[in-house]
Amino acid sequence: MAGIGKHFKYLILGGGVAAGYAAREFARLGVKLGELAIISKEAVAPYERPTLSKAYLFPQGAARLPGFHVCVGSGGERLLPEWYSEKGIELILRTEIAKAELTSRALTSVAGATFTYDNLIIATGSVVTRLTDIGVQGADCNNIFYLREIDDAYKLVSAIQARKNAKSVILGGGYIGLELGAALQINDLDVTMVYPEPWCMPRLFSPEIAAFYEGYYAIKGIKIIKGTTAVGFDSDANGNVTKVKLKDGRVLDADIVVVGVGARPHTTLLKGQVAEEKGGVKTDSFFKTSVPSVYAVGDVATFPLKLYKELRRVEHVDHSRKSAEQAVKAIKASEAGQTVEEYDYLPYFYSRAYDLSWQFYGDNVGDTVLFGDNNPLSAKPKFGSYWIKDGKVVGAFLESGSPEENKAIAKIARLQPPAPDLEQLKNEGLSFASKF
Ligand SMILES: Cc1cc2nc3c(=O)[nH]c(=O)nc-3n(C[C@H](O)[C@H](O)[C@H](O)COP(=O)(O)OP(=O)(O)OC[C@H]3O[C@@H](n4cnc5c(N)ncnc54)[C@H](O)[C@@H]3O)c2cc1C
Repeated sequence: MAGIGKHFKYLILGGGVAAGYAAREFARLGVKLGELAIISKEAVAPYERPTLSKAYLFPQGAARLPGFHVCVGSGGERLLPEWYSEKGIELILRTEIAKAELTSRALTSVAGATFTYDNLIIATGSVVTRLTDIGVQGADCNNIFYLREIDDAYKLVSAIQARKNAKSVILGGGYIGLELGAALQINDLDVTMVYPEPWCMPRLFSPEIAAFYEGYYAIKGIKIIKGTTAVGFDSDANGNVTKVKLKDGRVLDADIVVVGVGARPHTTLLKGQVAEEKGGVKTDSFFKTSVPSVYAVGDVATFPLKLYKELRRVEHVDHSRKSAEQAVKAIKASEAGQTVEEYDYLPYFYSRAYDLSWQFYGDNVGDTVLFGDNNPLSAKPKFGSYWIKDGKVVGAFLESGSPEENKAIAKIARLQPPAPDLEQLKNEGLSFASKF
């Protein structure tokens, strides 16, 4: 049994997006004073993490806390620290858990504090991949940044402000790379993006979609180097980065480097104690893990994606919010001897940069058909793509859609209607989605 410590009926490990939405759901369904606590290694109450790579980095009118605490990202009430105290929910901040013992229902912090629980929700999110982890030469020099938590974003902003017109190199062409490329360029930095793939965001984008964003970024003056990676860094006498050495032999000048090469679910504390699948903690449709009274939500959960009849992990904010709400509903229902409906999630991803904004719903498998105007030189480019598998439209992407149009693409991704001939689908474009 663990030593003397605080005990909670409900304990949330991690204080990110999922934790905040779970707290709101507990409050909605009824939680007594002192029953619920959130433990977070961050110093602030849960906030909308996507803001860090967007409005947080604006040169003017930047978003700052308390402006983007959850649940403003989904149009809900902003939960300030006072909200948690009013509800009797304890926010245990600046507290990193070093050990989790699921059999004795105890967590121990780095400082040695012990917390016990009746029910645990694991919401530890993801950890970024650091170039030091993979042994890249010189990767520990100064001014090489990562972006996961608000402290990282603060350090990046300080570096941007300290050196006007700096040369920046962004490593990675995924979400973080693309959003940061735009943000640094808006801050008047010289920006070069480097990624190993033949086009940006290959996990989602088709080559035609990627061509638009790469063209748009080029017009903004961003240089893109594809098909190679960083193999080392040079630094000056103060340890500040000066050069990025690429695998293809090129060497880039750099004052600031931002690395966005991926993240992995934060499951290390639980290794060997809970069933895992696809790199995450395996759950059922109620986000229950293999250990009684232990739930996992958000980025760490590998859950049954009912629509596709398979287990998946989803590292996106919409799922982190909804999975957290589902887990809390399930906990509360089981206490009342009731059940809730199975989680039936439609994957939804989005991103924003410059005056661009895209949404994607469904599954990006099968053939793709691009429609609309994806010429980056157009005054108002607007285009989309459908994914077609086994004769059905299973996924849809739209750049610069109106709320109604985004609703329409979400609807067809859920309905999966039979796809007409690909040429017809291309010609019909958005009006195909609007029929349903
Ligand atoms: C910069 C950035 C931009 C993003 N933009 C988008 C976007 O535009 N669209 C989109 O769909 N998704 C986006 N995402 C992804 C989205 O933010 C995540 O999917 C979401 O935050 C996951 O929620 P979570 O609660 O599972 O994890 P997180 O929000 O990451 O929260 C995890 C929390 O657990 C804490 N923690 C971890 N380990 C411990 C420990 N041992 N002890 C104590 N605390 C611990 C962390 O400090 C953190 O507070 C973005 C992510 C980042 C980093």
